[in-house]
Amino acid sequence: MDFAVGKESIRIFPTAGVRQGDALSSPIFNLASEPLVRAGKSNINPGFLLFGSLVKTTAYADDIAVVTNSPSELQYILNVLSLTANTLGLQFNAGKCACLVFDKGKPSETQCRIGEQLIRCLGPDDQETYLGTPIGGKLRFRPPTDLIPNLDKIAASNLAPWQKLEIFRSHLLPSLSHHLASGRVLKDSLTQLDTECRKFLGLICNLPNHATVPFFYADRRVGGLGTCRLTDDADIWTIARAAQLLTCRDPTVRNICREQLHDTIRRGFRTEHPGVLPVGEYLSGSVDGGLYRLRYAEAGSNLWTLARQAAKRLGVRIDVSGDENLRIVADDVSVSPVKAVRGLRKVARQRYTRNLLTDKSHQGVVANCLSLEGTSKDMARLVSCRTPLSFRDWRYLHRARLDILPLRGHSWFCSQEQDTSCRRCGKENETGYHVLNHCEEGLQLATKRHNTVQEFSWKRC
Ligand SMILES: [Zn+2]
Repeated sequence: MDFAVGKESIRIFPTAGVRQGDALSSPIFNLASEPLVRAGKSNINPGFLLFGSLVKTTAYADDIAVVTNSPSELQYILNVLSLTANTLGLQFNAGKCACLVFDKGKPSETQCRIGEQLIRCLGPDDQETYLGTPIGGKLRFRPPTDLIPNLDKIAASNLAPWQKLEIFRSHLLPSLSHHLASGRVLKDSLTQLDTECRKFLGLICNLPNHATVPFFYADRRVGGLGTCRLTDDADIWTIARAAQLLTCRDPTVRNICREQLHDTIRRGFRTEHPGVLPVGEYLSGSVDGGLYRLRYAEAGSNLWTLARQAAKRLGVRIDVSGDENLRIVADDVSVSPVKAVRGLRKVARQRYTRNLLTDKSHQGVVANCLSLEGTSKDMARLVSCRTPLSFRDWRYLHRARLDILPLRGHSWFCSQEQDTSCRRCGKENETGYHVLNHCEEGLQLATKRHNTVQEFSWKRC
């Protein structure tokens, strides 16, 4: 094997394989397998005409996909690929190969061989994982269900509650991102997972069931937990993916996507579509200008119909007025496709924060006060893994902030016919306000707190 840089070259004699994950592994493999991709892209493959662009072969590292017009053409290309692989010293693993044949829009049965071995043909209900996402005749799928067992394991572990929260936020939630980004996850399964996640968060923050929902997703600066809702995240990823494909640097991908989008809009209009297609309005989920008449009974769903629905749900506008510069606009945020996920997550968080501040059941009163302090990160740190709180404080913190401590003054805890007076002083109604600020028994501590705050502010001046 010779490595050449400019005019210089070095001869090397590999004695062992290159480990997966090694920095050199993928460039060397890509170089060595290049003849395979070239064979798939050469003139022996007539390719498949997809929305005006010819598609022959796609490859990502060792995942190679070949597209042809018929099973016999596919078999011919596979034979050529096998021969090429043999001369390179590579071998295909027939067990990991699969083929999918569409006949009149439906998956049909066929027999293809790679080398001597038959490869699996995907039926109408079969799926094969390609680049981490299930692909098959049907594209919709349920995400892997190990999230709930993982939540159980973390809940039962001996970690501190703020560490459990951090693991949930920085490991468990992102583990689903790839599926949300590249697949079409069924919405009902995400709604179910969201409910399970809230139960888990309620457990580690010691909250009762009637804690307000925006609390879980609101900004940490106002005392929220700052996590993401999976149903929102799926919509955000769908919009981001659609926008990124439309502005992709690869002209083949970009043109196929744009043409498919135009075709989808025309199909929706059936016969009487307008001369200039309302692409931006369509993707933004608008119903103006006759777009409310669009129907997709026969065409089914694709990325563009899903992106339209997602934009409608999230109230996102997609601005395509600049040809190359597509912008995604929501509330006061306008972002480019590459920054879409981050920008839209921020928008979603701001909305939950606003919902928490305006909560009708008084659970947002403390959040309102915290929101007055605009720049400090101290509040966010309290609910991070670097929190200075003790276990006892943590159990108490979120309940106290949301004013849902188990006190007699609350109708959900104690019916009004029963004694609602303070269990310590017996004088007033036992509410969060009374216990924290007005109870005679606690006045000594309240004075101490007052003095500490005063001393602290005096030192800062
Ligand atoms: Zn009292």
